Amino acid sequence: MLLELERNEIVKYAQLMLTSGLVVGTGGNISIFNRKENLLAITPGSKDYMDMGPEDIIVVDLDEKIIDGNGKPSSELKLHTIYYANREDINAVVHTHSFHASALSCLNKGLPAIHYMIASAGGDLKCVPYATFGTSELANNALKGMINRKAVLLGNHGLVSGARTIDQAYSIASHMEYISGLYMTCLSSGQDIQILSNDEIENLNRQFVGYH
Ligand code: 13P
Ligand code: ZN
Repeated sequence: MLLELERNEIVKYAQLMLTSGLVVGTGGNISIFNRKENLLAITPGSKDYMDMGPEDIIVVDLDEKIIDGNGKPSSELKLHTIYYANREDINAVVHTHSFHASALSCLNKGLPAIHYMIASAGGDLKCVPYATFGTSELANNALKGMINRKAVLLGNHGLVSGARTIDQAYSIASHMEYISGLYMTCLSSGQDIQILSNDEIENLNRQFVGYH
């Protein structure tokens, strides 16, 4: 089977994404890029993650041509291919609708550096303006909003993370959800929120080299 390893990994992480509550129903999508083959494997559109096998994962090229797999690729295919075409450091993309990250995105607020684990994404996150799901406009916004970072909030929608490996991209999406929850809780306390300094984020980024 073409990109068998990547397809099995996608099934595993898509099911984990659902059971961990990072998405509701068939929301979200995951892809892995095989740079040697110049092909990516991506979740199918609107398919039950618990009823999904490697044969349902769609293999496409960077021009969005379907190479293998049953059914249609995720409607957010452009949101994935744009990173592989423009970011050499990204070989896996995870898109979630996790609750707290999505709540922040509805406020159109970025995520400040309130917890040291934000360094796993390179530092504070931007929230990019709303654009309709599946559009080039959304993909372009997401790419621009993630410069020097490994995650970005999508206005009135959710979160995208990207990293060298799928376990890193998934871990970043989970941590950003956790920190978004902390931030929403801090905001609702009405008290001053302590933000980590840029110097400390640079220090943490050095510590995170090799970790993420
Ligand atoms: P797909 O089911 O087509 O992947 O779409 C889900 C989604 O999150 C759209 O933004
Ligand atoms: Zn979505």
